[in-house]
Amino acid sequence: MRKKVGLIGYPVSHSMSPQMQNGAFEKAGLSYVYDKYEVHPDQLAEAVGDMREKGFAGWNVTIPHKQAIMPYLDEIAEDALKIGAVNTVVNENGKLTGYNTDGAGFVKGLMRHVSFPMEEAKVLIIGAGGASRAISYAMGKEGPKTIAITNRTMEKAQDIFSECLRDQDQVISLQEAEERLTDFNIVINTTSIGMKEDRLPLRVNHLKAGTVVSDIIYNPFKTALLKESEKRGAIIDNGVAMLVFQGALSFEKWTGVAPDASLMEKIVIEELGGSYVNR
Ligand code: NAP
Repeated sequence: MRKKVGLIGYPVSHSMSPQMQNGAFEKAGLSYVYDKYEVHPDQLAEAVGDMREKGFAGWNVTIPHKQAIMPYLDEIAEDALKIGAVNTVVNENGKLTGYNTDGAGFVKGLMRHVSFPMEEAKVLIIGAGGASRAISYAMGKEGPKTIAITNRTMEKAQDIFSECLRDQDQVISLQEAEERLTDFNIVINTTSIGMKEDRLPLRVNHLKAGTVVSDIIYNPFKTALLKESEKRGAIIDNGVAMLVFQGALSFEKWTGVAPDASLMEKIVIEELGGSYVNR
């Protein structure tokens, strides 16, 4: 019988993880099946118990359950504890362990574009929501020279600085980030600005050529930030890589085998094909 894995969230109908994961299982010759399960917040405890009992090998967790699931797990890995959210559960003979592969997945994708040593990296992170928390922690672990974090709501950036960043990092205002943009060689947008409207999370007049600009939004394919940055000679990347590599790391935790991430990326891009804007 095929081993079960999947995704729980509310809603989950939009998720491309089943296509991406099932394609990778097939390519690897592994007998697993990945499905999505819509779990209402009131039914989370019951769903976790059910999946444990039914012998799921593990599963992914998305909004709104990433924090709420933590009390129902037997163990939580250090990264997930620091980030304060779980996106991957592994079930080993009924013992449930929670991990977070969002930040590490983002970093894996980003590193494909960084051609300088991390000790020389000066990183700007725009946004201080859930995705920013995972990315901030994972970026800090890579040992860049500095990370500056900025956000509309400064208290949230301050919280991430205190809980996930290092002493040499800093919180700056959006205005300061715009004025000092030339200081950074990696700029990451973790806000949702650009998803529904052609708007920039900050002005990019001072962006220097060669800066790596990553936007974790993947639809549209090129947000206003990526378009404007590309015009200024930046190296750009969108959020497909984060989606793919967080999934690839989950796959590895369930199976002990690394999947074909290029195939997963191809599947996601094909899935998005029809709905992509600005390709
Ligand atoms: P979240 O926790 O709700 O955080 C949203 C962030 O966007 C906050 O920094 C928020 O600022 C900012 N923001 C939203 N509307 C704004 C506005 N009108 N003006 C200024 N700032 C605004 O969301 P999240 O879960 O971190 O997700 C953020 C984005 O990342 C979403 O677009 C999501 O689709 C994308 N994402 C992509 C992946 C991937 O795999 N590629 C994974 C996760 C998330 P305030 O704090 O001031 O409200």
